[in-house]
Amino acid sequence: MGPCNRHARAAWSAFLAAREAHADAVDRWVADGARGEPPPEPPMPVLQWRPGEPLHCGLCRETCRRALLLVDELAASLAARPGVVKAQTRWSRVKGTRPHGSMSGEGDVVHTVTGELLRLRREVARRLKLADQVPAGRSGVVRSRSVTWLVDKLDVLLALDGLTVLSSVEDEERAPVELGPVDWALAWESRLRRLVDDEPGQTHARCPGCGLRELEWQPRAGYYVCGNCSRHVGEAEAMEAVTQEAG
Ligand SMILES: [Zn+2]
Ligand SMILES: [Zn+2]
Repeated sequence: MGPCNRHARAAWSAFLAAREAHADAVDRWVADGARGEPPPEPPMPVLQWRPGEPLHCGLCRETCRRALLLVDELAASLAARPGVVKAQTRWSRVKGTRPHGSMSGEGDVVHTVTGELLRLRREVARRLKLADQVPAGRSGVVRSRSVTWLVDKLDVLLALDGLTVLSSVEDEERAPVELGPVDWALAWESRLRRLVDDEPGQTHARCPGCGLRELEWQPRAGYYVCGNCSRHVGEAEAMEAVTQEAG
């Protein structure tokens, strides 16, 4: 289910769509008297899937853990910026009214990511039948504790089939989209990284698979992919490789 198989999933669903279109074309060809050559069959793509236990592979699990912790850290540094109005406590807001003053755009983002985090936590608690008292409010403490809570249960929650979170991470103006936990954490990571100007980019690390310096960052996957042998390399692993080579 992880982002490591995104390309394979896209290629496979394109093939399934092409096969249906082919079946329709054959029907039309038969109805027209089956003259000449039948429509050509779409070629089946050659796919390499990365197996995981039971739904996510180890790299995606690590990616999700790192992204969740980073989301909390980035949200905290965003919230600490001057001009950002603090998230409200449950006392500062009268039911049914907008908070007084208006939150800046960055404060809004922190508010949104914390709200989605709490929704994910509630959903996981419900699916795992855990008696979890989700704290009120969307303060930094509540956010950090919820991230710790989720990271603590990451192995079990990534094994939940069909777990998604409704998210406005891509576009707050439009209707929220459903994302799986790994994609959700990654999407927030890259959005917050953009806001604090902390985007990972180039690395001069050698690929541990083939030894070439061809690693390229994949923002929606959360790791580097080797341009030569397409090996997936995590950020920490790439950093370690650079340090090792320098040492
Ligand atoms: Zn994976
Ligand atoms: Zn390589």
